[in-house]
Amino acid sequence: MPTVSHTMPFDATLSAYLGTLSHLITAGMLVSTLDGEIVLVNSAACTLLGLPADASAATCAAWFSHYMRDRQGRPFPPGALPQQQVAHGTPLQELDLCYQAPDAPERRFRLNGQQLCDGVGQPQAILLLLHAVSPELVTTTHQYADLQNRFDTLTLRLARQAAQFQTVISSLPDGVTVVDTAGNILHMNEVGQRILGQPLASDLTESVQRYDVRTLAGDPMSPADLPLARALRGEQVFGMEHLIRGKSGEDTRITVSANPVRSQEGEIIGAVAIFRDVTRRRQQEQEREQRLLELEGLREIAQATALARKETTIYEALVVRLAHLLQTETCVLLMRDGDNENFHARAPAYGIVPDQLARFTLRADQWTSIREHVELDCPQVIDTRDGFAGSVGLQLLQTFGVDNMILSRLTVRERVIGLIVACNKREEGYFDERDIRLLQTVTPQAALAIENSRLYMHARQISTEARAQARHLSRINDELDAFTYSVSHDLRAPLRAITGFTHLLERSLPELSERSRHHLTRIQVNVDKMGNLIDALLAFSRAGRQNPERAPVNTRAVVQEALRLYAQNLVECGAHVYVAELPFVQGDSRLLEQVFSNLISNAIKYRRPDTPLQLQITGTQDDGMVTLQMRDNGIGFDMRYHDKIFQVFQRLNAGETTEGTGIGLALVRKIIERHDGRIWAEGTPGVGSTFFIELPVADERKEYQRDQ
Ligand code: ADP
Repeated sequence: MPTVSHTMPFDATLSAYLGTLSHLITAGMLVSTLDGEIVLVNSAACTLLGLPADASAATCAAWFSHYMRDRQGRPFPPGALPQQQVAHGTPLQELDLCYQAPDAPERRFRLNGQQLCDGVGQPQAILLLLHAVSPELVTTTHQYADLQNRFDTLTLRLARQAAQFQTVISSLPDGVTVVDTAGNILHMNEVGQRILGQPLASDLTESVQRYDVRTLAGDPMSPADLPLARALRGEQVFGMEHLIRGKSGEDTRITVSANPVRSQEGEIIGAVAIFRDVTRRRQQEQEREQRLLELEGLREIAQATALARKETTIYEALVVRLAHLLQTETCVLLMRDGDNENFHARAPAYGIVPDQLARFTLRADQWTSIREHVELDCPQVIDTRDGFAGSVGLQLLQTFGVDNMILSRLTVRERVIGLIVACNKREEGYFDERDIRLLQTVTPQAALAIENSRLYMHARQISTEARAQARHLSRINDELDAFTYSVSHDLRAPLRAITGFTHLLERSLPELSERSRHHLTRIQVNVDKMGNLIDALLAFSRAGRQNPERAPVNTRAVVQEALRLYAQNLVECGAHVYVAELPFVQGDSRLLEQVFSNLISNAIKYRRPDTPLQLQITGTQDDGMVTLQMRDNGIGFDMRYHDKIFQVFQRLNAGETTEGTGIGLALVRKIIERHDGRIWAEGTPGVGSTFFIELPVADERKEYQRDQ
């Protein structure tokens, strides 16, 4: 066990190596400081000096200085003790000494002395090795040489490792400090001194307690809780964070890890701490966190306002989240009343009870006086502490009963529709650039959301009105259909009676004059006309009441069927008819046959008397719809009436002689529309007409089934 005077004034590595060396060396070993103070002796040295093996370094040092003589037995002059000679640069090689301890025979020693230097050649300690040369102590020349070698090797390794240690420590990006068991600083690298902001005293004997160490909350830390103190108690401290308060009160935030330093025997001989300045990093992290919170808030606002349909929902989403993001006690939207310049607070507001809302009213004259401030594109801060407030701002603060506020105008197409107002920044804070930027981001979005909501509500109102009107029209239509049906139906009976009585009259009066017979014939013709009209009207009203069947219809077959009905007439007028391959449509074949019958009948009726009729029926399919075309070379019509001809009782150029009711095309249109289709016509007087019919294409699946 080496005997140490007190904690060695060397760094931890050197101390550890000297401890190891003292065990390895069989010779007496003494280590002194550069001042000549002996601080370590091994047990062999104690025995050589005639002391108990565990005598203290101080006793050994005292005996060594008092009783050691030169080879002639003369005491060393003051300041010239062997270790002092070595410290002054004189290495001692095999110096013969004479030692005269009290009550003991004289002993002869041979001494080697050498400086121990660090990596940069700087002496750190003096090492003395003492060998007995008196006959009774056995030290052969061989043993001595061996010791000498080990000594040199160890010394060299020691010096090299000490140098490496120094280099490594000083090139570390972190602060490193080593303390002894009493908490005195043995070593601190430059980075460490820079972080702590106070250079160490050169004697390196300061305690770590000289630093003002605080918890993250800023409270002083008890010395026992310091990481190094805990390490000295054997704990391993990892990543502990605290503040170091500098002389001028500024805080440096550091993270510290500390470990105990143990001797080979496991005894704690000091502690080492590694620490890093994380002030900037933590600041950045906090800023990043803040920014993330801000972004999250903005995202929430965007989402809430984009989804909201009601204006009040938008107000709520805005004021709650803005108060949170801006850290204000209140937040409210003042919306402009129509076209005048009064602004009223709207519920819901944040931090203002409904009864108090009236206080947040900006009259037209107040608005006029602050407008120039608020009509900037930038949100405006009004704060009594800024001195900005001026009379206008002060008035506003007084009106609202607040200390400070930030205003931002809501603009739609360059018209101010309202203001976002957030008041009283929490915790005595000031509105800053961040708040302004935040409002700048939110305001256009908010204005747009409010405008959209207004448009949406307006559109909804219009569509509700339109729906009501459609319902009304449909009811009237139904009533009209019902009326037509019952009237037509009821008219049939008197018509039948007229026909019956006409026949009776004809039979009961055989001697009727030609003239009277002609009148009776006229009555019958008109009754027939009336009958046709009633039939047409009944068909028309029936078409409005029935739901057409929906099935794939072979259009070409339907057209052929309709042509067959008029085969006779067509032959008579020398018609030339062409029917192309036609796509199948989805609908009611019976009703569609009615459509084509009407159109073919019209083509025959309205043909040019001097020209043989030409009729062409073709069809195309596109985008789920089929378009059928029926073209004739008849008398045509003036395009001004292209729509009129589809209205009930509308007849154009049809002369008195042309039979017709003026219901045919109206019926055709009704049937087509009941099929979700469209019909329209193009005509040129004297050239011909073309009727276009658009109908849904046949459902292929059904067609497939039909083909099976
Ligand atoms: P009408 O019983 O008079 O034929 P419609 O409703 O069928 O009644 O036709 C309305 C009017 O449209 C006709 O009176 C006629 O003037 C015009 N019209 C219909 N079809 C043709 C056609 N193919 N060529 C020219 N005019 C036509």
